[in-house]
Amino acid sequence: MDDIRTRFAPSPTGPLHIGGLRTALYSYALAKHDSGDFLLRIEDTDKKREVPGAKEKIQELLREFGLIWDGEVVIQSKRVEEGVYKKLAEKLVSEGHAFYCDCKARNAKEEGYSKDLRDPCRDKGKASGAIKLKVPDGEKIAFTDFVLEKEVFWDSSTVSDTTLLKSDGFPTYHLAVVIDDNDMGITHALRGHDWMPSTPIHLLVYKYLGYKLPEIGHLTDILDPEGGKLSKRKGSTSVEALLNEGYLPESILNFVMLLGWAPKDNRELFSLQEFVKAFDPKGFQKSNPVFNRDKLDWFNGHYIRQLAADELNSKLKAQNSKFAGLDKEKQFAISNLVRERINKLSDFDELAGFFFEERKPDIKLFGPKHREHLQSANEVLEKVENWEKEEIDQKLLTLIKDKEFKTGDFFMDLRVAICSSKITPPINDSVVILGKEETIRRIRKVLSSLTN
Ligand code: GLU
Repeated sequence: MDDIRTRFAPSPTGPLHIGGLRTALYSYALAKHDSGDFLLRIEDTDKKREVPGAKEKIQELLREFGLIWDGEVVIQSKRVEEGVYKKLAEKLVSEGHAFYCDCKARNAKEEGYSKDLRDPCRDKGKASGAIKLKVPDGEKIAFTDFVLEKEVFWDSSTVSDTTLLKSDGFPTYHLAVVIDDNDMGITHALRGHDWMPSTPIHLLVYKYLGYKLPEIGHLTDILDPEGGKLSKRKGSTSVEALLNEGYLPESILNFVMLLGWAPKDNRELFSLQEFVKAFDPKGFQKSNPVFNRDKLDWFNGHYIRQLAADELNSKLKAQNSKFAGLDKEKQFAISNLVRERINKLSDFDELAGFFFEERKPDIKLFGPKHREHLQSANEVLEKVENWEKEEIDQKLLTLIKDKEFKTGDFFMDLRVAICSSKITPPINDSVVILGKEETIRRIRKVLSSLTN
């Protein structure tokens, strides 16, 4: 078999979505598993829908995920300037497989055609305008989808005469995808299921241009947990938005690996390299996967715990400027403390914000004995000589015993007074980091604010 060559062919019409990342990842793994090439092509022929900066952003994200393409990026608009598509569209016209149409809008019925799938201009021999495919009637058009592992076919009578080259000289996706996959030597084209309806058009273009058909595979749709296809409107499915929410690239990638592909065993954790090694097209799933946020959180928690101390620390610094302003020793102590307790980097502010910004405690969070608890804690903590966990623990536990406090209630009041939250890392570890002066200052501030 020839060396495998795959490609990712995004249109720069918006942000990279989770489905696009999945197509890129599977295409990359398919090629790299066999030491083949993974190419990148920017399909920027729809100038009206192009979003400025999108093509650069897509490349930046692919690099961030380690999906590095081979060779130069192929930019379709550059190939338009070189006249590549126009020449071949004209060839199709001269060979009777396409025709010119200069009409503003089609009006097939009025012109006596039974179905509006057939364009009135197809037999008029016009010499200018857009170029459209002249689809034959009554032919079977078929291919074997290598993801679905089955033959998919159409009756050509149900396929419409489709524009291949617009009157402005720009190709449509249908023409450009075929020419470029051929010219780039693509052996396997993977794409979203949305594109299945256009496949018969492409199959005809392949045939008429005399090109060898690559393997074509359509990936399943990713479903929203609430039903239906995952859509941009229902929460963040853009890769950049997920990164901004505090998901690590390795977690997003590992999550995406299993959104439509499964290994032979039940293994779940894969680095990109491990995934490439394990990748086998037989693992493509036939049923639609669901975008499960809890699973993504689980992966992310796992990868956060795998980070080296300084990696986690730098990520937290990048995320929170107040944290970045603390001295190094404190930073490391805090990041170590939260490592086991966050699933997303963005959980950090909520969980550990009290270390670097004082918040007014919510009185409603205190238990009935809070005044007594705080007064005694204040007295005891003042007497701690070595502000270390052992001594603090020992003094507070003795106090709880002597006064017959309920341990849980006591620590909860202390936690609320110091951290203004019921959910924090262990309070004893936290006050060690916060320091004696600041801990006592916060307790006293609460005490003095309590009326009667
Ligand atoms: N430009 C198309 C897209 O962004 C690519 C489809 C394909 O890979 O053939 O979905």
